[in-house]
Amino acid sequence: MKAIVIEKGDAGQTVTLKDFPESELMDGEVTVRVSHSTINYKDGLALTGAAPIVRRFPMIPGIDFAGVVESSTSDAYKPGDAVLLNGWGTSETHLGAYAEKSRVKADWLVPLPEGLTPRQAMAIGTAGYTAMLSVMAIEAAGVRPSDGPVVVTGAAGGVGSVAIALLAGAGWHVIASTGRTEEAGYLKDLGAAEVIHRDELSATPRPIGNERWAAAVDSVGSNTLANVLAMTKYDGAVAACGLAGGMDLPTSVAPFILRGVKLLGIESVHCPRPRRFEAWRRLAKELDLAKLEAMITTVGLDQVIDLGPQILAGKVRGRVVVEIG
Ligand code: NDP
Repeated sequence: MKAIVIEKGDAGQTVTLKDFPESELMDGEVTVRVSHSTINYKDGLALTGAAPIVRRFPMIPGIDFAGVVESSTSDAYKPGDAVLLNGWGTSETHLGAYAEKSRVKADWLVPLPEGLTPRQAMAIGTAGYTAMLSVMAIEAAGVRPSDGPVVVTGAAGGVGSVAIALLAGAGWHVIASTGRTEEAGYLKDLGAAEVIHRDELSATPRPIGNERWAAAVDSVGSNTLANVLAMTKYDGAVAACGLAGGMDLPTSVAPFILRGVKLLGIESVHCPRPRRFEAWRRLAKELDLAKLEAMITTVGLDQVIDLGPQILAGKVRGRVVVEIG
């Protein structure tokens, strides 16, 4: 089968599109014919070796796939079932999505939700499913659109784009923070009511600032997250899901002890199945598919390697669908 393969030699990491023996697929109850995948920030990290995502060589990267079950020893799935997968250690310790086939544990799979095609599911991918986990966390914290605006950082990226569409659809006044203000039209079409330049949030943070929003979805981290926290209203909630701007968090306890702001950690890879299934159920029901379509760039497996550095450089807008099968 065709696959993108990361290997490690004396000269470092190499990434090539090549033939890979199906006999080397790893253990799992279900073999899937992969039809679509996508490219997330984490895939960029794995493809370039910019962070130690891959912990087994050779590795087939790719943390998301959609496809059809080819064979199964699990009662939960039978040949012909449409399924998707996000995370669970693919591209880290288990062979992943950028291949014509994948073999995984049955428990890792999610049945393709009714109303979504495999292509749409991969346009959503881990980025979109993480956006929904963030929305669910803000709701669970008790913050509502009537409490004030929500700010979305890294707005023109994958998590940001889907978060804007979901939040606007749920009635929020969405403030989109982006370094690409030339994409203001794109962001407003997704549902942003206001677009601000990310420089407003990247300066050295003060412990506390003017109250600007009741909630936030932050995919940037570092100074940006610290500034977002400092500008969050009393009793507000901030979903922290990313590190596109850095892994540090130079903040103080001030937003927490002076305003009761809640910082909500979002993790998608090992997210328990009930919350994962609920996120996908809601994505199929609530995400405006016309807006999703506007986010999509479609590529083939042969273009994936070149896109790795581009997504890390913040040059990919919205979501990429990789057509495989
Ligand atoms: P994208 O590259 O699609 O989006 C990231 C966006 O962040 C960019 O488009 C850009 O938006 C902004 N950005 C990039 N670099 C910088 C910078 N140096 N300073 C400020 N802003 C920057 O990536 P994804 O949407 O796929 O992922 C976003 C983040 O979320 C990543 O860090 C990823 O690892 C994380 N993530 C975490 C998950 C979890 O389980 N917690 C799951 C999925 C993703 P703009 O041009 O609009 O400024």
